[in-house]
Amino acid sequence: MMKPTLMRPYGMPQSASTAVVTPLMPSVVYASDTPDQLDDQYEGRAQGYTYAREGHPNADIVAKGVAALEGCETGLTLGSGMAAVAAVLMGLCKAGDHVLGGDQLYGRSLRLMKEDLPRLGITTSLVDPTDAAAFEAAIKPETRLALVEVVSNPTLRIADIHAIAEICQRRGVLLVVDNTFTTPAAFKPFEHGADIVLHSVTKLLAGHADVTLGWVAAKDPEIQKIIYTFAVTTGMTPSPFDCWLAERGLATFDLRFERTQETARKLADFLADQDVVTRVLYPTRDDHPDRARAQAVLQGMGGNMVSFELKGGRSSANAFTTAANGVAFAPTLGDIGTTLSHPASSSHRALTPEGRAALGISEGFFRVSVGLEKPDDLIGTFQAGLNAVRAGL
Ligand SMILES: *Cc1c(COP(=O)(O)O)cnc(C)c1O
Repeated sequence: MMKPTLMRPYGMPQSASTAVVTPLMPSVVYASDTPDQLDDQYEGRAQGYTYAREGHPNADIVAKGVAALEGCETGLTLGSGMAAVAAVLMGLCKAGDHVLGGDQLYGRSLRLMKEDLPRLGITTSLVDPTDAAAFEAAIKPETRLALVEVVSNPTLRIADIHAIAEICQRRGVLLVVDNTFTTPAAFKPFEHGADIVLHSVTKLLAGHADVTLGWVAAKDPEIQKIIYTFAVTTGMTPSPFDCWLAERGLATFDLRFERTQETARKLADFLADQDVVTRVLYPTRDDHPDRARAQAVLQGMGGNMVSFELKGGRSSANAFTTAANGVAFAPTLGDIGTTLSHPASSSHRALTPEGRAALGISEGFFRVSVGLEKPDDLIGTFQAGLNAVRAGL
C-alpha cells in the first residue's frame, strides 16, 4: 500500500488485522514499480492510481456510495455540485448546440445557461418543466441535452418528468436530472428515463454542511468517459478529506432523510394553521399545486423542504428571522440543522420584484430545509418567530 522511501522511511506499519474505518488518503501521487506496470495501469490491464486529479481512493468510495443510492454501477465524484453541472454542459456540448433547461434551476446553473454557454456559442432556452407541451415546443433540431430538477427551488413545483423523459427519448435529446433537491430516496432518475444524473453532494447526501462535493453518472459509458476526461482536464478534482467526510455522511443519509421528512410534514401542517402564514408549499399536502403529480413521481415522499409565506412582507421576514433564532438564517440546504432561506434577498435577488412575483416569491416568502432537531423544539422556535410577526402586524 505505501512503501518506505528515503524521505518517508516508515511506510505503513504492518498489521495482520485491517482498519474498520476507511483511511484518509491525501496522497497526490502514486508510485508504480516499473514502467511496464505503468503501461498496464494506463492500458487498463491493472487497476492503479497515478495522480490524484485523475482519481483517488476516497473519491471513488463516494462515487460508489452515491451510485448505490441511485441504483447505478458507478459515477464520478467532483469538487462541487456546480463542477458536475459544468462538466456535463461544457463537456458534452459544442458551439452550435442548443441546451434546454428548467426555468427554476439552481441559481448558478441558470447563470451558466444564461451567460457562459451563450458566450461559447451554445444557445439555451429555459422552460417551465411542469408544462410538458411547452417543453417539447422548445426543442430544436440542434438541441443536445435538457437539464431538469424534479422539485423546483424555492417553490417546490414538481416537473412533469415522466412526460419529459418520453419526449427526450423520442426527440433524441439527452435528459440530465439534477437530483440534489429530490434525492434518490424520493426519486431515482435512471429508473425513469434519465441519461445522466448529477448531484450536489454538498447538500443532503453529505448532510453536515462541512464539505463541497458533486457527483455525476451517465448511463452510456462513452458519455461518462467524455465527462470524466473534461473534468480531469479542467481540474474539477474533489478533496480527499471532503470525500472522507462525505462517506461518513452517506452512511446515515437514509435515516436523516426519513427523520427530516417526517418533521417537515409536521412543520408544514403546523404552518398551514397559522393566521400570519398566507401560503404553505409541501408536496404531499392537499393544497400543493402539483399534488397529483407529486404523488405519482415521488410516491408519497414529500422530502425535507418546506416553503411558506408570511403576511406583511419584508418587515415580517426580519421579525421572523430575529425571533426564530434557534434556526440558522443561511441560504443552504440539507444540513443536520434546520436552515431558513429568504429567496428575495439571496438566491433570487437578481430578479426584479415582478420577476419574483411571477414565480410566487414575495418579501414574506421563506424556504426551510428541515434538519434533525426534535420536532417539538423546532416547532417551538417557529412559534416564537410567528409570535413576533403577529406582534408587528
Ligand atoms: C447547491 C446546488 C447545486 C450546486 O452545488 P454546489 O455543491 O454548491 O456547487 C446544484 N444544484 C442544486 C439543485 C443545488 O441545490
